[in-house]
Amino acid sequence: MNRPVYQRSNKWLAWLMAMAILIMPLAAFGQTQIVLHANKYKPSDDVKLGRQAAAEAEKQFPLMRDEEVNAYVESLGQRLVAAIPPEFQHPEFRYYFKVINARDINAFALPGGPMYVNRGMIEAAHTEGEVAGVMAHELSHVALRHGTAQATKAQKYQTGAAVAGILGTIFGGPGLGQVAQAPFALTFLRYSREYETEADLLGARIMANAGYNPRDLANMFRTIEAQGGGGGGFLSDHPSPKDRYARINQEAQYLRVSTTERSDRDFLAIKERLSGYPRAQTMAEIQRSGQRYPNQGSNYPNGDRTDYPSAPRGRVDYPSSRFRTYNALGVVRLSVPDNWREMSEQDSVWYAPTGGYGSANGQSVFTHGVNIGLAQTNSRNLQQATNDFLNTLQQGSGNLRSRSGYQRTDVAGRNGLSISLSNTNEATGQPEIVSVVTTQLRNGELLYIISVAPENDYNTYQATFQTVLRSVQLND
Ligand SMILES: [Zn+2]
Repeated sequence: MNRPVYQRSNKWLAWLMAMAILIMPLAAFGQTQIVLHANKYKPSDDVKLGRQAAAEAEKQFPLMRDEEVNAYVESLGQRLVAAIPPEFQHPEFRYYFKVINARDINAFALPGGPMYVNRGMIEAAHTEGEVAGVMAHELSHVALRHGTAQATKAQKYQTGAAVAGILGTIFGGPGLGQVAQAPFALTFLRYSREYETEADLLGARIMANAGYNPRDLANMFRTIEAQGGGGGGFLSDHPSPKDRYARINQEAQYLRVSTTERSDRDFLAIKERLSGYPRAQTMAEIQRSGQRYPNQGSNYPNGDRTDYPSAPRGRVDYPSSRFRTYNALGVVRLSVPDNWREMSEQDSVWYAPTGGYGSANGQSVFTHGVNIGLAQTNSRNLQQATNDFLNTLQQGSGNLRSRSGYQRTDVAGRNGLSISLSNTNEATGQPEIVSVVTTQLRNGELLYIISVAPENDYNTYQATFQTVLRSVQLND
């Protein structure tokens, strides 16, 4: 069961070609030389490390499941990968690109190729070139093998450190064994200023090779600064070289932009699309919530486009017989099993057990639980208002079908209606039963209580749902 907070737009705009951008004077001799640092690890070690870290990162952060957004970022990323100078290409590396549904203006790349771009980064950028700039910078850390170079430096006197063991060195946090329990360090991949400067310089070169104005990399740092540094985002992960902006622009003089066909049309369509989603949490909020995303899995490194398996699918605990009372929406008191969590959405609150919720296509999806909320309706007639509400539900869940007609019921001593519906869960594809109970507040707003459980689990939950419903009190 999900809520129709977002309408899918069918507009998918084809590439618009031929928008001229400034061509730089050709002066390759002026480019700064970049050399690889000493590194005792093999490129295949980078790949192994990145794969482990990626699997952990994907358990901690929700990925966007919007295929258009993902395809856009993946294709932008692969265009940059193709523009890495040959001397910094590693045939073992597998670059892939995913979008984290987080608000911070941030992006990070892991050794051997996985890269994660926050939704907030795309939303903050003014042009595709700015997004490409941050991605090119991150890509450069990977191509220059900065993670394992840093570990080499830190472990000069150690021999044969296990791959998992050196992750801690790279991330400046606990080793991967502990990472599995502790939150994945937010400040991972802190590099020295020297490494940052190298990533800026190579990033500028990649930008130019890929047909972007390298100055957009510098512009993005300005954009991030102008937005207050992105709240613990990219700039705080990046000890900024002081003259970064000037340095990139200086380097740009010597770079020639290879093509002249980048347009912002797709970028603007993607930004528009993202703006249709509910506001994302910050990475820190996500970590504080403690929610894990065990089913995301990083499909690495088979080189195929990653599929975005559906969540939730975890084990769901039997509802506790002890209840906890909550105040919701300013007008409701209700009791739910004390092993359910409370999660607020835009105009409603969910109560659900661990394993009974997750996300699909960027939306929250619930397999088990109770959703209580308020809807504005045009009708003072309860049945008409409930009809209107069910119509909006159906827009969000095309498979929703009535199993019964309306039945009169009592909600906190008021007239109420209840109806039972069947649905196919958006994330799991499993049949589920959705029961909707409505009543009206004194101001005419419609209060709804939706309970949902998989069809084959419904009997287990029915008594719990009844208890929750009976506990409802209204103080409007
Ligand atoms: Zn960096």
